[in-house]
Amino acid sequence: MGFNVNNTTFPNLLDLLFPHYCRGCGALGSPLCRRCKNDIIFSSSNFCPNCKDFCPSGKCTKCSFLPPTFVVGNRTDLIGKLVYDLKFYSVRALAEPMAEILDTVVPKIGGDVAIIPLPTIRSHVRQRGLDHTNIIARHFSKIRGDKYSVVHLLCRNNHTIQVGADRETRLKQADSAYYINPKLAIDSDTTYIVFDDIWTTGASIKAAVKLLKSAGVKKILVAILAVSRVDKK
Ligand SMILES: [Zn+2]
Ligand SMILES: [Zn+2]
Repeated sequence: MGFNVNNTTFPNLLDLLFPHYCRGCGALGSPLCRRCKNDIIFSSSNFCPNCKDFCPSGKCTKCSFLPPTFVVGNRTDLIGKLVYDLKFYSVRALAEPMAEILDTVVPKIGGDVAIIPLPTIRSHVRQRGLDHTNIIARHFSKIRGDKYSVVHLLCRNNHTIQVGADRETRLKQADSAYYINPKLAIDSDTTYIVFDDIWTTGASIKAAVKLLKSAGVKKILVAILAVSRVDKK
């Protein structure tokens, strides 16, 4: 059963009273204690979000259409809870530790690297008061240093709504969900990391990768925080 996103935009009482309790163990002090952060890092082993096969190299031999893809864990794991709390309860202090976790999962790449957060629907950003993937991407690029930047190369067409849509509708919508930002030039030497919080059907990522390739991007990686094991209807 899915949750209703519209009913979850207000924090619960616990979050209002104690915004800084660890989402993993409940300890007061920070929204993610060091031990729980390390637990996520050490229990993370890379798998392909599409076929779910163990995939340490990131490049799945079965899913050849996917560029090297790196994931932190499953949506039902603690990382999924962190995504949820940052996104729907606006727990901003989670963004930095989440970027630190991402830093341990995405390989270090030489040369210029541009992180492309998959753009969130604008009305959702307004409603929540924050753009969660963008905030994490900024922290991530800061951790990695000068060669890394956040680039908004993908823009979102406004008509698409994923929540509640069935798989087929989503795939169709995703195909026209994005367009290349006409104000930005593509550099064939730069590595582009497409970054998203949740992989459900993968429709958004697949559409984004296809679009970037057709626009002339040569080097692409994908980074995902949490993967849904079961397709949500
Ligand atoms: Zn903890
Ligand atoms: Zn695969």
